Amino acid sequence: MQFQRKIFLQDVSRILASDYATDIEHADTRELYNAVSKAVMAEAFAQRDAHPEGKRCGYFSAEFLMGRAIFNNLMNLGILEEAGQALASVGRALGEFEEVEDAALGNGGLGRLAACYLESAATMNIPLDGYGIRYRYGLFRQTFVDGYQHEEGDDWLSWGDPWSVRVERDAVEVKFADITVRAVPYDMPIFGYKNGVANTLRLWSSEPVQAFDFEAFNDMCGDRKAEENFDATKICDVLYPNDNTMAGKMLRLRQQYFMVSASLQDIVRKHKAAGKGLKELDKSYCFQLNDTHPVLAIPELLRLLRLEGMTFEEAFGVCRKIFNFTNHTIMAEALEKWDGLAIADLLPDVYEQIACCQQRLEQEGLDPAKYFIVRDNIVHMANLAIYVSAKVNGVAEIHTNILKTDTFRDWYALYPEKFVNITNGITPRRWLLLNNPALAALIDEKIGTGWHTDLKQISAIKPYIADMVPAFRAIKGENKKKLAAYIKEHEGVDIPANFIFDVQVKRLHEYKRQMLNALSILYFYYGIKDGTIKDFPPTAFIFGAKAAPGYYMAKAIIKFINEVAKLVNSDEEVAPYMRVVFVQNYNVSYAEKIVCAADVSEQISMAGMEASGTSNMKFMLNGTVTLGTLDGANVEICEEAGAENNYIFGATVDEVATIKRYYWPAEIIEQTPALKRALETLTDGTFSDETGSLAKLYESLTAGHAPDRYLVLLDFIDYVRVKEELLRDYGSEEFWKKCLINMSAAGKFSSDRSVKDYAELIWNL
Ligand SMILES: *Cc1c(COP(=O)(O)O)cnc(C)c1O
Repeated sequence: MQFQRKIFLQDVSRILASDYATDIEHADTRELYNAVSKAVMAEAFAQRDAHPEGKRCGYFSAEFLMGRAIFNNLMNLGILEEAGQALASVGRALGEFEEVEDAALGNGGLGRLAACYLESAATMNIPLDGYGIRYRYGLFRQTFVDGYQHEEGDDWLSWGDPWSVRVERDAVEVKFADITVRAVPYDMPIFGYKNGVANTLRLWSSEPVQAFDFEAFNDMCGDRKAEENFDATKICDVLYPNDNTMAGKMLRLRQQYFMVSASLQDIVRKHKAAGKGLKELDKSYCFQLNDTHPVLAIPELLRLLRLEGMTFEEAFGVCRKIFNFTNHTIMAEALEKWDGLAIADLLPDVYEQIACCQQRLEQEGLDPAKYFIVRDNIVHMANLAIYVSAKVNGVAEIHTNILKTDTFRDWYALYPEKFVNITNGITPRRWLLLNNPALAALIDEKIGTGWHTDLKQISAIKPYIADMVPAFRAIKGENKKKLAAYIKEHEGVDIPANFIFDVQVKRLHEYKRQMLNALSILYFYYGIKDGTIKDFPPTAFIFGAKAAPGYYMAKAIIKFINEVAKLVNSDEEVAPYMRVVFVQNYNVSYAEKIVCAADVSEQISMAGMEASGTSNMKFMLNGTVTLGTLDGANVEICEEAGAENNYIFGATVDEVATIKRYYWPAEIIEQTPALKRALETLTDGTFSDETGSLAKLYESLTAGHAPDRYLVLLDFIDYVRVKEELLRDYGSEEFWKKCLINMSAAGKFSSDRSVKDYAELIWNL
């Protein structure tokens, strides 16, 4: 984008005057943020290249974890520096916008993946548009009170939404059995990196069909209309804060239908308005269903096409060509199942299409024990998606293999050609250029800038690795100082910047095993205190994670780690060796600061549980070694960078399968006194916990029918061994080379590669 300082400052001043009755000198940060964003939006819109005609793909997702837009947008438009200088020339600073709330319309990896894919598609000039929900409140803001998680509403819109445009003319009505609501789209441009492309993220907002009806409201006896007005806005009120679990709530069902119905009605209407026949809809569009959350799109499109006069078989044929499904997890508690009666009550016409699909499946004469969509009145959303979709994909090699051989093995036997793997990726613009500009500049200096949009080229850095070590160390050191200052300010904990930064940041889940990390810290702590561990390399253990508000064990683990932190950080004897901090409100902006400053990337899920992971890729790209299990994309990270350049431990997927059959952790605990000691802090009064949650945590690891579901205790010894090895390697020339080898081998994990794979193998764009 062309940038002219004078015009830019005039535009900003004009918007400040018209919208806020103020000027650049007096505007507060929020006002200035909105004016700068709107000025850039208008100019970018004027300068954008025309959309090419042709087939487009719709990425349907209940979550888009976009993070902060302004820095990314200025960078992709190529005006980050100029805009910064322009503001500086009038006594303001871009850095002020560090305060702007993230757009956190997602929980974790799945939502962040959607955001990376939109950015990469725009950059690769692939016609991909996102479709989702404009939640009034995003993922909750997290604080800790006495070590316990507290949640507050995330009022992200209080900062304004200057990057979106409300498109009144595209509003549609969405009908439920009880109410009809109006869906109004807000379009957010997704700018490609310095290429003039702008795709769209279209987020739907729910509103009452009619303006507020005072007459009905005043009529206290029969105010049905007033009730309607209340319900309509509620649909988009809040993002469900569950990651990798499913909540069978009617409001959630409404959200899912609202989003797909509005999107498809809009698309069908536009297709018809362009004078094209609906039997050719798949020539103009294809859709990617991001997990099962948008799978109601299938019966909804069937319904819409049949309303237009198609037979079921004709409509089914279109759906079979147009839909594709991404599976993100094999965990039973996350695979969506809905009560058929609930769907039939709320969406009778939609349920009818689901029933038709089930009937069609039955007529194929397959084994009904293996192949069903509705069984015992329960609708299995993944089965519906697999039956109808053209392609089904997993998100890392190991995950796709598990889908084929285990989770969906019967479907794979029936439709082997449907199943493909597309390993996840991350955008190198946000996750290196933007979050680590000094490292990006160092790479540019050695190999030029081609890697910005072709990450495979980063391997050209290999011959320079030995020479780069001092500069790399200096950059990492600066990033660590900045993070330490930020943590000091926001968490009140002192982290010496010369400590090793050992980081585990991701959603809090038992399968991700933050508990394993925490127990190892206690093991080191007591080892240092009783002298069995000598010369422990000074290490700061840094955690960040939100727990779903209803997930009791996850919240107990947060409390535990906060108690461990308190114990360690207040002990002067271990102060030269250790610090522990759990940062509050981990989100995309915090991730950007942490990822560039980490020395160790903890990716320690039980093998088979983490479908891919993407934070593992962010760390790798920033030159961080992985301490991890052979799970998800860790496997491919080792293939690309060499297992010898990472720190791998623990049971493999095959071992987990056999061990689980006869696993009994009591023996392990008895044979490992240091582990026993660490575990007993949960019950022996070391930590205060009036809620009793730590005792429950102890129980879940040691007692009941299936203790220690995620093999924390089984993997403990190997984990501690490899972790200590890593910490002792730290600082050697060899260690720094490992970091840079990982960075140089991260090419595969660009989301540019992922979206090109989708375009080629699935979307046929
Ligand atoms: C990348 C990212 C995630 C995903 O982390 P995993 O370790 O892959 O689960 C979650 N939350 C945020 C804020 C992220 O940036």
